[in-house]
Amino acid sequence: ERLIDKIAAGEVVERPASAVKELVENALDAGARAIDVTAEAGGTALIRVADDGHGIRTGELELAVQRHCTSKLLDAAGLSAILTMGFRGEALPSIGAVARLSVVSRHADGDAASITVEGGRVGPVEPAARAIGTTVEVRDLFFATPARLKFLKSDRSESSAVSDTVKRLALSAPHVAFTLTLNGRRQEFPAGSPRQRARDVLGAEFADEAIDLDIERHGVRLIGHLGLPTSGRASSQYTYAFVNNRVVRDKLIAQAMRAGYQDVMARDRHPVAVMWITLDPALVDVNVHPAKADVRFQDANAVRGLIVTAIRRALAEAPA
Ligand code: ADP
Ligand code: MG
Repeated sequence: ERLIDKIAAGEVVERPASAVKELVENALDAGARAIDVTAEAGGTALIRVADDGHGIRTGELELAVQRHCTSKLLDAAGLSAILTMGFRGEALPSIGAVARLSVVSRHADGDAASITVEGGRVGPVEPAARAIGTTVEVRDLFFATPARLKFLKSDRSESSAVSDTVKRLALSAPHVAFTLTLNGRRQEFPAGSPRQRARDVLGAEFADEAIDLDIERHGVRLIGHLGLPTSGRASSQYTYAFVNNRVVRDKLIAQAMRAGYQDVMARDRHPVAVMWITLDPALVDVNVHPAKADVRFQDANAVRGLIVTAIRRALAEAPA
């Protein structure tokens, strides 16, 4: 297939976990209330994401797997106020370029249909059976790009990246029910409050000791649960941040969270915290990188200051 498709694909889909992220974001964009994720062999053998969202009309299935076809970008003005997570129309074609992709979908307006893309080759649209919603299946990821396959880590570490990705996405949308079946082991995250989701994802130990945070200043709202960094966890990163319900791995936010913790944290400890940031979408730019993991705030200093102050205050006021 076209080299350019494969190069572009590598930007969006670095590893199985990035494919999982794109597919779950599509399900969230489709208004799903329940999302089931299945992965096998670290996601290289199989990734399946099934949702009960609005589905894709049969007449639009072919478009959905074509590059730069998105149903989500209505006009240029929409660019500065993007509420949906995907908007580049790159995920499905990118995955189809390097794997065996199948999409089965049913829109409320009609019957179910399916389409496949294998190593960039698009198959015919065929009738299928399904309730309203969409199932995307990815088999043999990177079979069409063996070089990329060689760069993957062990099944175990790819599995753990998939698990981390789903957990972050589950935290980002507590009102959506998730299941994750990883190598046959099933975990459930029932729909609930942010607090309940934090408990389900990060554990009762975290939730019981966590300090709640809920403040709003200059139109920026922060909701968070702050764990005390005393549990001595090994990993370098246990901070979870969401901007307008979007998963972000943003330096500014991560640094602000660490700075907020600085006074109470020994050198070898790491903060464990989850924070939902909500603000006017026009004041934040998410169109930065294909992976869409970082964000640019119009007033970065204000956001940073708010996070640092809020965390410091909450930790200082917390009962010892
Ligand atoms: P983007 O999300 O950037 O629009 P994608 O390649 O991820 O691009 O998806 C292409 C299009 O396929 C989307 O714009 C949407 O119309 C449709 N689509 C993909 N996944 C789903 C889904 N789970 N439910 C409904 N529509 C979907
Ligand atoms: Mg998308």
